[in-house]
Amino acid sequence: MTEKQTILVVEDERKISDIIRLYLEREGYHSEIANSGEDALKLLKTNPSLVVLDLMLPDIQGEELCAMIRQSSDIPIIMLTAKTGEDDIIKGLSLGADDYVAKPFSPGELLARIKAQLRRHKRPYTKLSFNKGMLVIDVLKREVLRGDRIILLTPSEFGILVSLAEKPGRVLSRLQLVNLVQGYDFEGYERTIDAHIKNLRQKIEDDPKTPMFIKTIYGVGYKFIGARDEE
Ligand code: CA
Repeated sequence: MTEKQTILVVEDERKISDIIRLYLEREGYHSEIANSGEDALKLLKTNPSLVVLDLMLPDIQGEELCAMIRQSSDIPIIMLTAKTGEDDIIKGLSLGADDYVAKPFSPGELLARIKAQLRRHKRPYTKLSFNKGMLVIDVLKREVLRGDRIILLTPSEFGILVSLAEKPGRVLSRLQLVNLVQGYDFEGYERTIDAHIKNLRQKIEDDPKTPMFIKTIYGVGYKFIGARDEE
């Protein structure tokens, strides 16, 4: 049985949030409604799968809220707004929104876009292979192979490695890593990430001092630098 996915709807107009909720629940999603930016930040802690974000909120600009969410999360965000100038759209997307729906909107279209984002965002990999098979991560089996050796990782180490390896070349901050690995029973804070990385390097790098997989980006976080093998 699959658990219902939660969609966080940030919208202060009751009429609109009611319609969205109706459509979402009819399609088997669970919805949480936030009437303000403050509410939204609280409800984000419930780990929703996607955020629908109205830009005109009573307490904060939606654009600002979007940027705040992006500091710690890569959850898909669909902006909902009456501002439909090209500049507004470009601005919204540059703040990290994944899609943009203009008001007045058709709830059916919004739902189609929500589904498209969720599909795109789903962990698409079951197996990740790097540097001509030198490092293989079997996401489903939760197994890591270094050459033909099985490497034993703790759930936190595994979560960090998968989060980094899924997006080679992209820098993830310590806070982003803390949030990303919560699904792997992660307990800890930003500073503990460094300790996990150190242990991970001992296990997967030939020489932890000159890593070929996990690179430190000083003052920012970490980046996966392995070369992904062709499937
Ligand atoms: Ca509004």
